[in-house]
Amino acid sequence: MNGMIYLDANATEPLRPEARAAVLDALDRTGNPSSVHAAGRDARRLLEDAREAIARRFGGAPSDVVFTSGGTEADALAIHALGRGRRVIAGATEHDAVRAAAPGAALLPVDAQGVADLDALEAMLRGGPALVCLMLANNETGTLQPIAAAAALCRAAGAWLHVDAVQAAGRMAVNLAALGAHSMALSSHKLGGPQGAGALLLTPDAAAALTPLILGGGQERGRRGGTHALPAIAGFAAAAQACTGSEHLAGLRDMAEQAALLAGAVALAAGGPRLSNTTALALPGVRAERQVIALDLAGIAVSAGAACSSGKVARSHVLEAMGAGALAGEAIRVSLPWNATEADIAGFAAAYQTMAARLSRSAA
Ligand code: PLP
Repeated sequence: MNGMIYLDANATEPLRPEARAAVLDALDRTGNPSSVHAAGRDARRLLEDAREAIARRFGGAPSDVVFTSGGTEADALAIHALGRGRRVIAGATEHDAVRAAAPGAALLPVDAQGVADLDALEAMLRGGPALVCLMLANNETGTLQPIAAAAALCRAAGAWLHVDAVQAAGRMAVNLAALGAHSMALSSHKLGGPQGAGALLLTPDAAAALTPLILGGGQERGRRGGTHALPAIAGFAAAAQACTGSEHLAGLRDMAEQAALLAGAVALAAGGPRLSNTTALALPGVRAERQVIALDLAGIAVSAGAACSSGKVARSHVLEAMGAGALAGEAIRVSLPWNATEADIAGFAAAYQTMAARLSRSAA
């Protein structure tokens, strides 16, 4: 990437070679999976192989995997269908894909590490039928939520549980049944597949309750209309099969963090359970966007706050919910991609220390 050091995997992971090969193979096939002729049947086979691969990797029955355009649509579909006639309770640090789809949700508070308060959840569940939305791993901090314990509370109260596993899938063990969730959102480009594909995985009872958000030609058993983006879906499945977790990145992430701490940074959410590839680094007194721009000029790609709509840098609602105060506007996210190297981290460390010395001096 033109000598750039890419440390923004939580925005999008670099394409895995296995995914690239699968995309190119699918691009060379002409059929529409909905056509009855041989070309259509060939495309259908590719689609169903991908569906089986996703179910094998992340749990549930292949018939209860609904392919979508990505994580945002998977979250929206779950909330649209499972939130019908129910109160929605959402973690205070959920991604905008959930927040925007459930604007009236009651927010479940988190502690200083970003971990949801399960006593509060238990009390909130007493108010009648609910859909609970809780992410597995946070996109800004990597914080992991106690999903299995939340699932037990939800089941005891007769509530649905939707888990946004977009950042966790491929980086740690993720399985629908093991989590105890009723539905789970996945995104191809967060695990090294191409952009433009994702999936909603459902338990049989949630699948039976699913109503489509997008109507059309009856694709996905009538659960999601629209011709399948077959190259993206094939690449998604290939990437999912190629993922080997992110534990190998923990040492490199810690090296990056240590270098930043030496330069005056504060590592947020570092005292709780979190993904191995992510750190949220606040530099007191220096606005996040100034840090991102300075690092970009030095050839380092990181992001500020939730970078899904790049260009817009708002105060992070995630860090605010954790009680980070002014640091919520002063934190960058460093997220290591699957192919990060020690040389990348050495480059980051040098650039961060130069940036911190210069900007901290001008902020003082
Ligand atoms: N959920 C989380 C936790 C995310 O981090 C993102 C993207 O950053 C999404 C959902 C949206 O996924 P997609 O980009 O595939 O629409």
